Amino acid sequence: MEKHQFQAEIQQLLNIVIHSLYTDKEIFVRELVSNASDALEKLRFLQSSGQSIHQPDLASKITVETDDKANTVTITDTGIGMSNTELVENLGTIAHSGSKAFLKQLGTEKKPDLNLIGQFGVGFYSAFMVANKVEVFTRSSRADENGWHWISDGAGGYEIEPAPDLPRGTKILLNLKPEETNFAKPAFLEQIIRRYSNFVPFPIELNGKLLNTVQAIWTRSKNQITDAEYNEYFHYIGHDEQDPILRLHFTADAPLAIQSLLYVPAKNLESTGFGRTESEVNLYCRKVLIQPRAKGLFPEWLRFLKGVVDSEDLPLNISRETMQDTSLMQKLNKVLTGKFIKFLDETAEKSADTYAKFYDEYNRFIKEGIANDYSHRDSLGKLLRYESSSLKAGEKTSLADYVKRMTTDQKELYYLLTPSREAAESSPYYEVFRARNFEVLFLFDPWDEFVMESLRAFDGKDLKAAEKAELEIESKPSEGSLTDEQATQLAAWLKDTLGDKVTAVRASKRLIDSPAVIVDKDQMLTASMRRMLKAMKQPGVDSPQSYDLEINPSHSIITRLDKTRESNPGLAAQVAEQLLDNARVAAGILEDPRSMLKRLNELLDKVLAPAPTPGGN
Ligand code: ADP
Ligand code: MG
Repeated sequence: MEKHQFQAEIQQLLNIVIHSLYTDKEIFVRELVSNASDALEKLRFLQSSGQSIHQPDLASKITVETDDKANTVTITDTGIGMSNTELVENLGTIAHSGSKAFLKQLGTEKKPDLNLIGQFGVGFYSAFMVANKVEVFTRSSRADENGWHWISDGAGGYEIEPAPDLPRGTKILLNLKPEETNFAKPAFLEQIIRRYSNFVPFPIELNGKLLNTVQAIWTRSKNQITDAEYNEYFHYIGHDEQDPILRLHFTADAPLAIQSLLYVPAKNLESTGFGRTESEVNLYCRKVLIQPRAKGLFPEWLRFLKGVVDSEDLPLNISRETMQDTSLMQKLNKVLTGKFIKFLDETAEKSADTYAKFYDEYNRFIKEGIANDYSHRDSLGKLLRYESSSLKAGEKTSLADYVKRMTTDQKELYYLLTPSREAAESSPYYEVFRARNFEVLFLFDPWDEFVMESLRAFDGKDLKAAEKAELEIESKPSEGSLTDEQATQLAAWLKDTLGDKVTAVRASKRLIDSPAVIVDKDQMLTASMRRMLKAMKQPGVDSPQSYDLEINPSHSIITRLDKTRESNPGLAAQVAEQLLDNARVAAGILEDPRSMLKRLNELLDKVLAPAPTPGGN
């Protein structure tokens, strides 16, 4: 008898599982049946690729047996089985990278939600929610192997001993906790298994009674499948109790024969801090599982998808390792991605609410696709949604709808990166758009800056940051405004006073309510972009920026500054500096606003009337 300790993380998980008050304990049935099914699928793959296996005539099936006197349940399969080494690796250590993040999260919760256990590759351990002792009898499908008996109470490690004369496959024996006798009652267990048994591609027998008719759901015709069935299938393959937000079931004949059923889960796990998710789309050929969680089937940015792709065109005997690099895989990827993007587009058209839900949860993935996936950039651009100056707060528009609203004298699409709608509407950069009645998209997500830089154009028209728009307001000079001559002289004085902080100063044609604005058509980086580049350690971000300052000749601060520079040069210089800082704040490029506080305080001091002197009359 060999004694083993669980890997520390597994032991930690087991402590949580054993003591959990989690109520949906029945998910252990789904997890163990799905493991049995996986083991049978792996065996089928070995067989179909021509490898010899132990007991080739043993039928593929899953057998569930209950004994309410002994208070036990056994789940037996005739699948691939496990060798001694595999037992230690598979049932004693954590295989998937995401599982550790899951554990960390679980450990911090008062009432841990174990529903996710299967999604993080540790579904087996759910058995300890209902059993105080779990035994595994297993015999590998390899001819030269022996049988093994694995025993654990979940608390004190596990033991392994030889078990001669076992048939191929795995039997899991659960010695149920005294309070879990329900699961040893056939009627109760049957109702749990029936819920998804028809999605298991092998016969399931409960105490000798066959429970399912095996038929792969994705090969059935759409109009014969109910929503409930679609959802149950998702619960089964996704190890997820929640219904999916979207599903796409389709068949294609050319250029490749494909049958596919894809789901978008209700929750984007990455946004809840679980780290990077891995694609969970399984690749089949004529219902034989070729590769679970197939790599390369979809681009990275579609890694939230779950489901099945079945293609008759795949060679059955291909090794899983080389699969990823084949041109066939690239072709599949291209067809599937194109199809899915089109589906999203149609969903947006047909049911805006559903699309909005999807977009709220997954927009970062679309944006990632635009930044990284050149081949789908344009079609992904259609899927973007933003708030805009032409819509009410909270409403979002597509770029296509924006284009439809463009007036004939508008040549470009404009966007403004902004922390909020209020900030956008009071921004000096927005004034020219309001005056000319041009629509501006309001972008709140710092990622959007990259997205716009990557996309560059939409529908043949340039996407332009509002700061960089070369637009003018047709203005009639208002009363009290500086003349062109005066404005030029003031600009020269400002350049002199501000020195190297600005490249040039001139009168603006885009301002109404603001005294001054910073413009730099080429280089201006917003503060968020600078932070991002800094985080990426890009060279040159730290060098001081220089840009042009434009002033508004009709603004009272400007006209009064022009007078003050003669009567009180010291004050005028301070105002000039502050004017520049204010324009930098509006541009989002003043990195440390504390740097201007000293001057601002001095100015406040001067603004306030001198205090009456004591004893004065
Ligand atoms: P996952 O199924 O996501 O890999 P589990 O915790 O459910 O995670 O199972 C861990 C591993 O144990 C499986 O990947 C598999 O290698 C092995 N395993 C579990 N059950 C069986 C079984 N019935 N037959 C063969 N191997 C099994
Ligand atoms: Mg599993």
